[in-house]
Amino acid sequence: MTISYKISDNLKDEMIKYYEDLKNEKAPQYANFKAEEGGTVITLYNSGKVVFQGISADIDANMWFDLEKHRNNRDITKEIKDNQKDKDDSKDYRYVNLSAIGSDEVGTGDYFGPIVVTASFVDKKDHAHLIDLGIKDSKKLTDEKMLKLAPELIKMCPHVTYILDNKTYNQNKDFNMNKIKAILHNKVLITLIEKDNYKYEKIIMDQFVYPKKYFEHLEGAPKIVKDILFLTKAEDKNLSVAVSSIISRYYFLKEMDKISDKYKMNIPKGAGSIVDEAAQKIYNEYGLDELKNIAKINFKNTEKIKREN
Ligand code: MG
Repeated sequence: MTISYKISDNLKDEMIKYYEDLKNEKAPQYANFKAEEGGTVITLYNSGKVVFQGISADIDANMWFDLEKHRNNRDITKEIKDNQKDKDDSKDYRYVNLSAIGSDEVGTGDYFGPIVVTASFVDKKDHAHLIDLGIKDSKKLTDEKMLKLAPELIKMCPHVTYILDNKTYNQNKDFNMNKIKAILHNKVLITLIEKDNYKYEKIIMDQFVYPKKYFEHLEGAPKIVKDILFLTKAEDKNLSVAVSSIISRYYFLKEMDKISDKYKMNIPKGAGSIVDEAAQKIYNEYGLDELKNIAKINFKNTEKIKREN
């Protein structure tokens, strides 16, 4: 039996202390400790994820569930159940066999580089070929694999991609990311739908906000695509979303390469500490105005830059 959940921060130290004398071997990479008690192996990862393994894993885990309940009012048993539901949710086959237009975006969690949004039309007659190419489980594809795959998809599937450059992004007043996404999704969808008379059965969007909110964000837009099916984990439910996700990622990676070439240094993805270092370097060598051309300036990373007075 294996049970895992994310421990609350205020219980972490307590757990580490509790298992201090029960540590049985070197902890695996990214783990804080690995311990054994009465046949149950307990591993706490740096991310806060704790895993109980063994015949009586539930008994050992329960002690912590009780603490979570009393100190943090968290019902871990329910959380685990909901999580499971979430996983089952990706096994929703109702829409797999439809010809559809799907849209997805990338770059919203990356400090450097643009936001890229794509809408594409995927005919169901192309499904077998796309699966053969390996586009299923697009979330698991490496960047390398996507770079190889995307040119074929770009040729095969009608699509519209919009790249929001950083200069334009940084002119935003409120930096409401969901609003930015809504506007961009709507834009690529309209452009694609007006391009040709595609025989799509559904328009599917990888959901990032409640539908009501999505349409609120679009208030005042001259044209709004309304008949959208919003799905979580949509890339698993219809290939049009997976295709859009891969094409978006492709253009994003190409843009990142361009930036890296221009500044003759590796411009990292994400928003972690290597990104902070790169931001500092760009700031030192080129200044803040230049940084505004290649980074999302409202991200916390900007605040971490040590500025000379
Ligand atoms: Mg998405």
